[in-house]
Amino acid sequence: MKVKLKIIMLVSSLLLSLSVTKLCYAYATFGYKLKGSWHKEYYYVSDKSDDYGNIATKAVKSWNSAVKSEKNHSLNINLSQTSSGSDKSTRVVISPLDRGPDGYSGFTYYYNVDIFGEWKPINYGGYPNKNYQSGSAVINKYYTDSYSDEKKQNVIMHEMGHIFGLKHSTNSKSLMIENITSKSTLITPQADDVSGVRSIYE
Ligand SMILES: [Zn+2]
Repeated sequence: MKVKLKIIMLVSSLLLSLSVTKLCYAYATFGYKLKGSWHKEYYYVSDKSDDYGNIATKAVKSWNSAVKSEKNHSLNINLSQTSSGSDKSTRVVISPLDRGPDGYSGFTYYYNVDIFGEWKPINYGGYPNKNYQSGSAVINKYYTDSYSDEKKQNVIMHEMGHIFGLKHSTNSKSLMIENITSKSTLITPQADDVSGVRSIYE
């Protein structure tokens, strides 16, 4: 009996180690990040409509609840809404705008505050080449107005992932897949996305 039990334990621990090694992540980061205690500061939504204001708030709440401090993890995202889009504690800006057929449902810009206290874009139109104070996700209403609420929220959460420092992931289950608009159901931040953000800030 004792030997049998030992064998069972050995086999199950082997299976466990196999399943653990299968959990490989595919997230990618661009190597720069939001400065300071951004995770407990503010987000701003320029459009207060049901279509975007409420959905953007749901998107932020999804990130807030996906990345909580727990055993072995210190990062706790807890962004609150503010009515000021330009305050230095406003770290995430979500701006639904009609930009016409530019090919992007969402696009993220990164900003720093210069020595005069003015907001200045960093490497405009590309990933930042230094740490940054805030990110602005432009949601292109030209495309997203016809999307379901779930798809709108996916696009906003995906752009927020870029603001947090993530590039596209090759994990097909990730919120950070390049073609997130191909998903018609809600994809909240997945293990791959959460691990990516933790790898940057923990
Ligand atoms: Zn993207």
